[in-house]
Amino acid sequence: MKYDFLIIGAGLFGSVFAYEAKKRNKTCIVIDKRSHKGGNIYCENVEGINVHKYGAHIFHTNDKKIWDYVNQFADFNQYINSPIAFAKGNFYNLPFNMNTFYQLWGTKTPIEAQRKINEQKAIFGKENPANLEEQAISLVGKDIYEILIKEYTEKQWGRKASELPSFIIKRLPVRFTFDNNYFNDRYQGIPIGGYNTIIDNLLKDIEVKTETDFFSNREYFENIANKIVFTGQIDEFFDYQFGALEYRSLRFEHENRDIENYQGNAVINYNDAKYPFTRIIEHKHFEFGNQKHTIITKEYPEQWTIGKEAYYPINNEENQQKFEKYKVLAQQQKNVIFGGRLAEFRYYDMHQIIASALKKIKKEFNEN
Ligand code: UDP
Repeated sequence: MKYDFLIIGAGLFGSVFAYEAKKRNKTCIVIDKRSHKGGNIYCENVEGINVHKYGAHIFHTNDKKIWDYVNQFADFNQYINSPIAFAKGNFYNLPFNMNTFYQLWGTKTPIEAQRKINEQKAIFGKENPANLEEQAISLVGKDIYEILIKEYTEKQWGRKASELPSFIIKRLPVRFTFDNNYFNDRYQGIPIGGYNTIIDNLLKDIEVKTETDFFSNREYFENIANKIVFTGQIDEFFDYQFGALEYRSLRFEHENRDIENYQGNAVINYNDAKYPFTRIIEHKHFEFGNQKHTIITKEYPEQWTIGKEAYYPINNEENQQKFEKYKVLAQQQKNVIFGGRLAEFRYYDMHQIIASALKKIKKEFNEN
């Protein structure tokens, strides 16, 4: 018997697609080369603490439909992401808000802060910012750019801020209220029981094979289903024929500490270039844990090379042009659906992945 769908990748995109296809009475098999389901939202429970093995994930969305959707699979706690930045020896609140402006300049009112930023914009800002550096200075001025953005960004992406696309920095809110919520979205939280609960519920009653690599047995896998949903790297799917797209890789160092509270916050960014990691995550704080011990993770950005884990797509002009060529090939593949961060070469958050998977399902089943 042939399956209706072979889904390559048991991450959030593949799991939502599988769940929805099954709901429509289709048969699915999901394979993943890793030893577990969940892709990068996978958590490992270590003595009661859910460790975000592939970096911090905080669910947030403004879309009630997506919020209701994800709440079918888990309840969420009231966690609000309020990361702190440690830069040049001081702590600053994020995202850039009245607390940050006060810590930087001593400005006490929105008018004073706005004036300060406008002064800096007038001197250094550009009317049509062409890259991340120009965009950042135009948004928040030169001081914030130099203290909180430049070094962090260049270490995170391994490139000069002037060579990066501006949309990356537009993700961060800038506000003139004393509000440290990192997101502007209406809904936010961490799933109770961890992210694995969502994946387990999505993939309940669906055949899943881990430690199974599509590329090591491609011909076999191409023949076991009528259609393929591919969530891996699009360039690898096409044998890198136009050259490899570029990604940023990450390395995580997890440490078990025999103290109750290491840093007092789930996320502290280390913005200075002299630290080789970008942030330290203390996992228990995502779930208000009161264990006697704690687990922290240092996140080190790394250069990506073929074969290494690809985390962030580098959406600069050169890669975008290459990606467009792969996209043309993808469109010619009538029996393959490409989806997710790696196949669509996009900087997706979880809520966007769910929206994208639901959209592709509707298209596949000719629904409106
Ligand atoms: N960023 C920064 N300083 C910070 C936090 C973020 O310059 O303290 C910039 C950096 O370029 C980063 C981007 O903002 O890549 C997006 O940050 P976000 O926290 O959304 O990144 P993610 O959590 O997706 O890695």
